[in-house]
Amino acid sequence: MTPKFTVLRVALDTPLRRLFDYLPPVERAAGELRAGMRVRVPFGRRRLVGVVMAAADTSQVAPERLKPILDVLDAQPLLDPAALALIEWAADYYHHPIGEVVATALPRALRLGAPIAAFEERWRASAAGAAAHAAGELRRAPKQRALLEFLLETGGAPAASLEAQLHPWRDAARALAARGLIASVEVPRERAAAPNTATRAASEAPVLLPEQREAVERVSAAFGSFGAFLLHGVTGSGKTEVYLKLVERVIGQGRGALVLVPEIGLTPQLVGRFRERLAVPMAVLHSGLTEQERLAAWRDAFSGHARIVLGTRSAVFAPVPQPGIIIVDEEHDGSFKQHEGALRYSARDLALVRAQRAGVPVALGSATPSLETLHNADAGRYTRLRLPRRAAHEAQPPSLKLVDLRTAPVHSGISTPAVAAIARHLAADGQVMVFLNRRGYAPTLLCTACGWIAPCRECDARLTVHLAAGRLRCHHCGADAAVPARCPQCGFNVKPVGQGTERIHETLGTLFRGVGLARLDRDVVRRRGDVEQVLERVSSGAARILVGTQMVTKGHDFPNVTLVVVLNADQGLFSTDFRAPERLAQTIVQVAGRAGRGARPGEVLIQTEFPEHPLLASLLTGGYDGFARAALQERRQAAWPPFTRLAAVRASAKTREGALRFLTDSRASAGTPPRAVRLLGPVPAAMAKRAGRYHAQLLIESRERAALRRFLGTWLPAVAALRTARQVRWALDVDPLELF
Ligand code: ADP
Ligand code: ZN
Repeated sequence: MTPKFTVLRVALDTPLRRLFDYLPPVERAAGELRAGMRVRVPFGRRRLVGVVMAAADTSQVAPERLKPILDVLDAQPLLDPAALALIEWAADYYHHPIGEVVATALPRALRLGAPIAAFEERWRASAAGAAAHAAGELRRAPKQRALLEFLLETGGAPAASLEAQLHPWRDAARALAARGLIASVEVPRERAAAPNTATRAASEAPVLLPEQREAVERVSAAFGSFGAFLLHGVTGSGKTEVYLKLVERVIGQGRGALVLVPEIGLTPQLVGRFRERLAVPMAVLHSGLTEQERLAAWRDAFSGHARIVLGTRSAVFAPVPQPGIIIVDEEHDGSFKQHEGALRYSARDLALVRAQRAGVPVALGSATPSLETLHNADAGRYTRLRLPRRAAHEAQPPSLKLVDLRTAPVHSGISTPAVAAIARHLAADGQVMVFLNRRGYAPTLLCTACGWIAPCRECDARLTVHLAAGRLRCHHCGADAAVPARCPQCGFNVKPVGQGTERIHETLGTLFRGVGLARLDRDVVRRRGDVEQVLERVSSGAARILVGTQMVTKGHDFPNVTLVVVLNADQGLFSTDFRAPERLAQTIVQVAGRAGRGARPGEVLIQTEFPEHPLLASLLTGGYDGFARAALQERRQAAWPPFTRLAAVRASAKTREGALRFLTDSRASAGTPPRAVRLLGPVPAAMAKRAGRYHAQLLIESRERAALRRFLGTWLPAVAALRTARQVRWALDVDPLELF
């Protein structure tokens, strides 16, 4: 019998849209190799780490040109079949080279070949150590003696327990190890015998409200099979409690949970709530981790030691052995979409695919669901679950009012009615949140004589004044310069015009002397822990007015905030981006949700120059639901998503012509597109020049998802082969969130 010819198809991190065939490693049976394992292979003159995607018994490469795999890095697949299916889906849907999708999915350390097995540092005493102790040495070194004694008594201990019991112990350990009295080894960590029920939890779950119970039961009924749920609940309605209960149940069945949250929503408070309620190890993944921490979290998740993976966007690729549920909190949040770099994916959409491939339910939660998700619920693809009221106390929904900036007097960006309302709420012992989506002191530096405005040289944008720092900064490219004392054009005086959070903070300080103020935006948050410090000042009551950007809208629960002031709602009303109204409505509703979380009712004031704008009207009369109905209607009429499918080819070049030429060539290479597909553009981006490069885009629109996919699949290789493609940076963005 001739042995069967086997090749392994390997995904490698290259821009080529294909897999690469290799022979099994010398002296190893092909059967030992399974899809999902990492291998090291020769690739030209280099050696690369790749992932086996499949085995096959034919190859288009001539047998004598096939090379064997050099090394197998994993004893068991790093990526399970559901993860591989997810990666294949993403490569196909986003029309992206599969090797680069794999590279996006894996932490860098694993891409470079680090072992996935979780190792643990263990210390033990040597025979010499025992003898030294018996002889009564080390009397002068109490720390060392204590450590040695501990290791003798316990028969050895992991570094984690030493840290817990003897901190600080590292110096003592080094001294003892240098004398050969103790030693450390790295041993594979045993899979923790994790408790099946989260018994010893530190905090008790509240008794769920009937609608919370109903939500839990409906999702639980789908355990073991795919089902998509929209948990649409107003801010403070107890969605997180529903997640906690669902995760607890899943863990009770010996399964794991994947919980995705927006970058800005992954607060210590949220992590703390999970930790306190569910006494099981958890892996937390976010963009602020070092490579070592990220690897450690992946190892914890992979080994099954961590039963819950809680993370931001890229955690959608994290290993969860035996998953039982996937949860996406704040599913409308833009940070789930990777909108830069090579692979532009939506973690929310991938979570759905992953749940489907793994055969588990997925729950999408939001107070302000995206119009896509609402449309899917309307169409019956998702089961809609509602939490219509706030859970805690008698918390009432806040009342929304508009302040007409055309008639109300305004000083330094704050209208008289808003000042009066702030005074009233402070007098009644409430706290106030002031929201402005613009950081810095002022968005413009103006010469009062000649009209000169400080421009960014690299962008079609003005420089923002940061007064305390004495700098002019570009919020698009990071350009940074000193604030000039005089106009560089005519030598006359310059002055900051307009409002940013820094200036509003200053204004409020003079209006409300003696009242504690806090500010929260990216300028005051420099280090880890800064956010917590600001929030702590608010929850302790030391600060009674909080001024901030988008950062104030998420994840904090201040029962004493009774008034929210939205200083400028108008930026989102007249944008060229068809999604801008949706984002504005979401922001207003989210920030409004910060008011009246406690027993006292909340009030929300929205300053606007366009009080009759239909968007604001629908929001005021019909709430987010009313707005969403109107907005979906508009999208249907204008044939925008979710009623059509969009993709964008985005390009940037050193000249405007360069970017446009490539897109024009791209369009030409499509010939006459199929009937269901339309090409729109190319057009320069709304802000064409950014960071010294000119940006432009070409939109591809279709009523049919399949037609769009087919078209992109045949067209993109032609685009990539264009001569002008090499003179630009370009990327495909399927389901783009921001059109600029
Ligand atoms: P969401 O995630 O929808 O914003 P949370 O789950 O954070 O809501 O709940 C808001 C507040 O209400 C929290 O302080 C939470 O502890 C409390 N809460 C939630 N459910 C209940 C309940 N059934 N009984 C009492 N308090 C609850
Ligand atoms: Zn700039």
